Amino acid sequence: MDEGRTLMNAAKRWLVSLLIGMVLVATGCSEVGITGRRQLNFVPESIINSMSSQQYTQYLNENQVIADTQSSEMVQRVGSRIVAAVDEFARQNMESNPFEGYEWEFNLVQDNAANAFAMPGGKVVVNTGILPLTQTETGLAVVVGHEIAHVFADHGAERMSQGLLVQMGGIALSQALKEQPETTQNLFMTSYGMGSQVGLLLPFSRLHESEADRLGLIFMAMAGYDPREAPDFWQRMAAQQTGEAPPELLSTHPANETRIQNLKELIPEAMEYYRPAR
Ligand SMILES: [Zn+2]
Repeated sequence: MDEGRTLMNAAKRWLVSLLIGMVLVATGCSEVGITGRRQLNFVPESIINSMSSQQYTQYLNENQVIADTQSSEMVQRVGSRIVAAVDEFARQNMESNPFEGYEWEFNLVQDNAANAFAMPGGKVVVNTGILPLTQTETGLAVVVGHEIAHVFADHGAERMSQGLLVQMGGIALSQALKEQPETTQNLFMTSYGMGSQVGLLLPFSRLHESEADRLGLIFMAMAGYDPREAPDFWQRMAAQQTGEAPPELLSTHPANETRIQNLKELIPEAMEYYRPAR
């Protein structure tokens, strides 16, 4: 990359951070549970959840959903165990439950790409292609815990808010949908990891990934899955990274040595929440 461009990008990132800082101070600020990080969020949950539910239904219609197999049942079991544990924790320890009113769905979809994603309102997809890497139910809990963490921390809504601010001058979501439906729809897809564009929003996703890693470990531990097994899964993901076509999850989830090192450092915290299953 040439130096001029690098400088431009640095200036752009700085400007975006400044803008977001100003908005955080002025309005639309919320706090992520457990980590306590303040985040930008001015998109109404009701609109986001209905967009999400529509998109999810369409995705399931266009792809082959695997039902009534041992693997699909395992995906559902891991999902509901983690959600139940986080729900219980939120009811006892948090002022408001981030999963309030969510209708969780966990679907296994036939797709060889080693990937998984989660959308607001509790809509989760796990690809069959990730199962050879997760290997065990605990390995799967690493992936599902991480995806549930993105939903818990409202990362999509934060990216959506950033996008509305940076690309569309900070207009309200309802207005954006009316005036520029296509741009808004694209922004939604990008914010929730369904699109392939990254661009300006990329500098913030590292933060989201490490936060989802941290919360994901805690969540799997709460549900009785041993968080000490998580680094092994990410090692297997990293090992697949060689060659020209890395698994899809890696393009949005850099599984490098730094990340694995960070995960190892987060394990003692997660162990405080660990309740082995009986
Ligand atoms: Zn992630």
